[in-house]
Amino acid sequence: HDEEAAAKAAAINADSGVPTIFDKIIAKEIPSTIVYEDDKVLAFKDVNPQAPVHVLVIPKVRDGLTQLGKAEPRHGEILGQLLYAAKIVAEKEGIVDGFRVVINNGPSACQSVYHLHLHVLGGRQMNWPPG
Ligand code: IMP
Repeated sequence: HDEEAAAKAAAINADSGVPTIFDKIIAKEIPSTIVYEDDKVLAFKDVNPQAPVHVLVIPKVRDGLTQLGKAEPRHGEILGQLLYAAKIVAEKEGIVDGFRVVINNGPSACQSVYHLHLHVLGGRQMNWPPG
């Protein structure tokens, strides 16, 4: 049954995007500082933080979600889970009173990793409008 599960996972991940560094973080092949994890979602510290708290929240299975702009009706549940995980991260990091959640979608928004991720930022005054 392991082979069956692996084939199923490979099929789900055989989407429009190429593998990203986040696949290796999910597989724990490269280290990350994990803040929150459940069966569907992984949250870990950004390696190049833009605020005292900067955590990335990602789906463990990309399933076509290279970016928010690729979302389909079937993604509704995971999108909700990611947003809820962002709130849990804010609580765990002690910034629940003031934090920002950002999704960069596409080149003109400076998206650099094509595996959907929410940035959870806080621990300092966040200014508006963002750059
Ligand atoms: P984007 O620019 O919105 O796509 O965000 C990608 C984020 O991933 C950037 O903030 C990077 O600093 C972060 N990042 C890239 N590689 C790693 C890594 O290996 N560990 C943790 N964060 C990473």
